[in-house]
Amino acid sequence: MAVYCRNCGKGLADDARFCSGCGATMQPPVVPNYYPTTSVTRLVRPRMGRMIAGVCQGLANAYAWDVVWVRVITVLLTVFGGGSGLLAYIIFWIVMPEEPLFLSPPMPPPPPYQPPS
Ligand SMILES: [Zn+2]
Repeated sequence: MAVYCRNCGKGLADDARFCSGCGATMQPPVVPNYYPTTSVTRLVRPRMGRMIAGVCQGLANAYAWDVVWVRVITVLLTVFGGGSGLLAYIIFWIVMPEEPLFLSPPMPPPPPYQPPS
C-alpha cells in the first residue's frame, strides 16, 4: 500500500516520514478513510440494519448501544411518553444525515483499452 503526500500528492514509501517532493511531514500517514467509522461523533442513518429510517440503528452505531434497546426505549417513549419517542425519532430522522453510499474506494485509472488484435 502506498502513501501519498497530502501536500503535493507525491507517492511515497509506506514508512516515509517526510515527503521527498515537498518536504511535508508524513505523520500520520495519509490513509484516506472511505468507509464509515463507528466513532462517537459520526451520527448517520446507516443503510444497513434499518427498520424505518435507520435512526435507532444510527444511534446504536454511534454510541455502541444495543439497537434492540434503542428501539424498545423509542417505542416505550412513544407509547407511554406522550409520543415523545416518536417526536424524537422524527427529529433525529430530519437531523441525522443519511449514510453516504460507499462504493469502492477510488482505484487508479485502468490501463488504456487495448483492442484485441
Ligand atoms: Zn509532498
